[in-house]
Amino acid sequence: MGRYSRTMPKRIIILGSTGSIGRSALEVVAARPNELKIVGLAARNRWEDLAQQAKQFAVPRIALADLTHLDAIKGALPPQTRVFAGNDGLVELVASTEADFVLAAIVGAAGLPPTLAAVERGLDVGLANKESLVVAGAILMPLARERGGALIPVDSEHSAVFQAMACGRAEEVRRIYLTTSGGPFRTWSRERIARAGLKEALNHPTWSMGPKITIDSATMMNKALEIIEAHHLFDVEVDQIEVLVHPESIVHSMVEFKDGSVIAQLGTPDMKTPIQYAMTFPRRVSGISEPLSWSKARSLSFEPPDMERFPALRLGFEAARMGGSAGAVLNAANEVAVQRFRDGRIAFGRISEIAEDVLQRHTRMAQPTLAELFEADAWARNEVDGCL
Ligand code: NAD
Ligand code: MG
Repeated sequence: MGRYSRTMPKRIIILGSTGSIGRSALEVVAARPNELKIVGLAARNRWEDLAQQAKQFAVPRIALADLTHLDAIKGALPPQTRVFAGNDGLVELVASTEADFVLAAIVGAAGLPPTLAAVERGLDVGLANKESLVVAGAILMPLARERGGALIPVDSEHSAVFQAMACGRAEEVRRIYLTTSGGPFRTWSRERIARAGLKEALNHPTWSMGPKITIDSATMMNKALEIIEAHHLFDVEVDQIEVLVHPESIVHSMVEFKDGSVIAQLGTPDMKTPIQYAMTFPRRVSGISEPLSWSKARSLSFEPPDMERFPALRLGFEAARMGGSAGAVLNAANEVAVQRFRDGRIAFGRISEIAEDVLQRHTRMAQPTLAELFEADAWARNEVDGCL
């Protein structure tokens, strides 16, 4: 857990500010101008949105990963704005900006290097970018402990677990229940899921999110990544983690303690709540998302997951047990397979099959270095096209 910054206003860098989480985070900041201040923003290629955000929040430093529109964005910003460029520019922004808190909200393993830079500096990190823990949790977690910054989960399930954990001691935890809506194909047959179209996969029943995580929610690979994420974040055995399908997405996750008590965190499905919690931790302040209403009758239902129809879930448990380089390989294979599906090159059902094939072909390294993890990631990406 570590220390956490109590500076006011809290100086914040948002990595991935043009995305779904990034935009929600800016709404949270806009509502608390005296307490939260943006000192850096970074994105890949939506330069017009990034420039508009930088102007709106008077941000002194920004980074654009894609170099194509570098001149355009420089021209659109006040001359005193410092513009960092390329993937190294993102790391430089984090490494050199006076800040207290970094919101890691880039999608994919691309988020790892700047997240690592924040952890290395001992800054507090709000972690939405689960992929960085899936790839390198065994390196990031001890590093965060050593450098002293707090790592506060933003992923709704992990934020719920983090909050529930405060009701007991780590050694008193018996089980963690990660909930999932079940995605758009919760009730579909395996054959129908295999042939699902892009529009159907992007039609999430309860959450509005970026395209990659929305497709991951349809395959349930998202939950697979979250199993690995929870394993690292909370230092629990894989056998202590269970997945529960909860279609209403109101109970965000639960912790069962040794005495049998189960502590859950509930709320409307709106990422602004866990984003704000991470930003203002350890305080709780007035939220800007719609609170839960109990004025109408409502029921909450739970069912066990079906690993036959959603094989990605089984892969998540397998990769978490394997450890070492398995998370990096599963994640990279999935990232490329999702992109191939979005490009119309493979059927929906192939995403999980390809991830499984690549994971099986991989020779696992038990304690990889960071360089070896990047190699495993690159190997897996390359391997996917061999499966097509
Ligand atoms: P998104 O696609 O909406 O946004 C991604 C952001 O990352 C954009 O700002 C984009 O410019 C930036 N980006 C992408 N590749 C980059 C690169 N190579 N270099 C620099 N910037 C890059 O994604 P999202 O839905 O906001 O998700 C972001 C992260 O948060 C993911 O890891 C996701 O799993 C996690 N998360 C999202 C939600 C949600 O509700 N959207 C919920 C839980 C966790
Ligand atoms: Mg989640």
